[in-house]
Amino acid sequence: MNSSLKMARDIDGKAMAAIVLDEAAAQVRELAAQGIHPALAVVLVGDDPASHVYVRNKILRAGEVGIRSVERRLPAECSEAQLLAVIAELNADPSVHGILVQLPVPAHINEQAVIHAIDPRKDVDGFHRENVGGLVQGHEVLAPCTPSGCMRLLEQTCGDLSGKHAVVIGRSNIVGKPMATLLLQAHCSVSIVHSRSVDAPALCRLADIVVAAVGKPRMIDASWLKPGAVVIDVGINRIDTPQGPRLVGDVDYDSARLVAGAITPVPGGVGPMTIAYLLKNTVEAARR
Ligand code: NDP
Repeated sequence: MNSSLKMARDIDGKAMAAIVLDEAAAQVRELAAQGIHPALAVVLVGDDPASHVYVRNKILRAGEVGIRSVERRLPAECSEAQLLAVIAELNADPSVHGILVQLPVPAHINEQAVIHAIDPRKDVDGFHRENVGGLVQGHEVLAPCTPSGCMRLLEQTCGDLSGKHAVVIGRSNIVGKPMATLLLQAHCSVSIVHSRSVDAPALCRLADIVVAAVGKPRMIDASWLKPGAVVIDVGINRIDTPQGPRLVGDVDYDSARLVAGAITPVPGGVGPMTIAYLLKNTVEAARR
């Protein structure tokens, strides 16, 4: 490779997540001195192997910062009423400050009913409509973890975001929409690109900041980017390669880094920030 080529700087999500976890641990110690011991309840329904890995990681990290975790496992065939009863019990338990139901839940259970059964003050995922509405209106709420983590990475990389043009690719309730809201609050001009957008690459080429949350492996390549753009790749996609399965983002990292100014790798970018902000939200819920 030509050594004179200018490569994008990697945005180190692991290092930043370690800082966020240290902050959370310090807050846990402060609360403990006041007799408050933050606790996170994690509810897992069924046997999805990926969900089991996510839950294990969350519980492990919680322990590392001194947050007690309460694990509730329900069989895949449990009824919606049984799950709602567990949530009601955790809502009523004053020793539990955060409740997370690992998504997706089995198809026979209404996901929205589950999300809205959680007490909004314990909704550490930030998915409850009360928190979503508060976020849009600029109130201090428990905000969704992945977009919060992305914002922290952007602030660390760009400093003041005011006046920058950000393009968010994807408009899901858990990533795209709250991400766009947070960028707007940071005084960016925000465009949201989705599956019906006309000439998405051209819109994206106008962006100082690109946040990709699509779920399509390596869809965004160098031709979508303005030189020097800061790229946050939320995507986590498992692909098969001749060397075996591997994780890749929604951005074609190898080509994008030849044009971008800075970029998050996958893995090691946004992923660790999501767990860190889940625990930060748990501490915040306990503090309140
Ligand atoms: P969703 O499937 O809910 O949303 C995908 C979005 O991408 C939709 O809004 C869809 O548009 C849009 N889209 C699909 N195809 C195109 C296209 N060709 N051009 C433009 N937009 C398109 O996904 P999520 O938001 O839940 O997740 C996105 C990715 O982020 C996934 O890879 C997921 O695994 C990952 N993720 C990673 C996390 C982390 O911690 N790093 C946390 C959460 C998610 P439309 O609305 O029009 O259908």
